[in-house]
Amino acid sequence: MSRLFTDVICMQSKKGQNKPSAVPFSWAEFLSQLEKKYSGFRFVEGRKFAFRPPRTIVFNSSEKSGDLLILHEIGHALSGHRFFGTDVERIKIEVEAWEKARELAKLYGVEFNEDLVQEELDTYRDWLHKKSRCPNCGLTRFQTQDSVYHCPNCDN
Ligand SMILES: [Zn+2]
Ligand SMILES: [Zn+2]
Repeated sequence: MSRLFTDVICMQSKKGQNKPSAVPFSWAEFLSQLEKKYSGFRFVEGRKFAFRPPRTIVFNSSEKSGDLLILHEIGHALSGHRFFGTDVERIKIEVEAWEKARELAKLYGVEFNEDLVQEELDTYRDWLHKKSRCPNCGLTRFQTQDSVYHCPNCDN
């Protein structure tokens, strides 16, 4: 008669957790790298990350994950984003800019923080959800290219 003892050892490997890089991140160095590569763009320090078409990229070097956020703005610039008709299109171009940022992150050894990206996109989704709700009856409205919202119930 034998008894079997089974030890279950959970080896929790946390995927996506990068080891700290040996070289400390330097904004000045990163920026000069970007300025060299994208000399057609203008990089300006500001309060909020933004792409101002046609060629200005605003960044805030004191923001957490700023290295990834600036790649996102470059993503907008490289994708040729100019304006958007509807709010749904806005979300589409946000996703597109993040896809571009994913490629760039690989190129520059920047950690692509999937959680941060989903958070950013959720902000837009929530915003769209709130905005599209009809204040009168609560139904979800639709938006036409002139960016005006219409309620299927209240508008005719
Ligand atoms: Zn964006
Ligand atoms: Zn309504």
